[in-house]
Amino acid sequence: MRYLCLLFLSACSTIDVSDPPPVDWPAMRIMRYYGKIPEACGSSLLNYNIACAVPDFCAKTCNVYLRVDWAWVKEHEELHCKGYDHPKPDRQIMRTSWGEWKTGIGRDLCKVQMGMTNYCKKWPEDC
Ligand SMILES: [Zn+2]
Repeated sequence: MRYLCLLFLSACSTIDVSDPPPVDWPAMRIMRYYGKIPEACGSSLLNYNIACAVPDFCAKTCNVYLRVDWAWVKEHEELHCKGYDHPKPDRQIMRTSWGEWKTGIGRDLCKVQMGMTNYCKKWPEDC
C-alpha cells in the first residue's frame, strides 16, 4: 500500500489544525523509525524527504520514518497519524487514503492478509 505523506524541506511544512480529521479516523499506535526513509515514502531529485508518515489501517499502526530528531518534525508527522492533513485543496493525503481504504477493497484485503481472527481483534466493530 502506498498511503503516505511526504515532508519536504521546500513545502509540506504546515498542517491545517483548523480542519479536523475525519470523525471516524481510527486511533493508531505510532511507531517511530529513525534513519533511512523507505521507498514507500517516495523520492524526488527536487525534494529531500526528511520524514514521512505511513498509516497501516489494517494493523491500526502509523509508521513514522525520520531522518532527523527534531520535535516539530515528529509532531508534524504524528498529526498526520491522527488524521490531519495539509491545507486544502491539493494535499489531503491522509483523508483520501482513509476514504479509499474504507470504501474500496482495503478492509477485504486486510481480512485476507491478516485472517479474520486477527482482523477482528483489531477491528471488532467490523466483526
Ligand atoms: Zn506533512
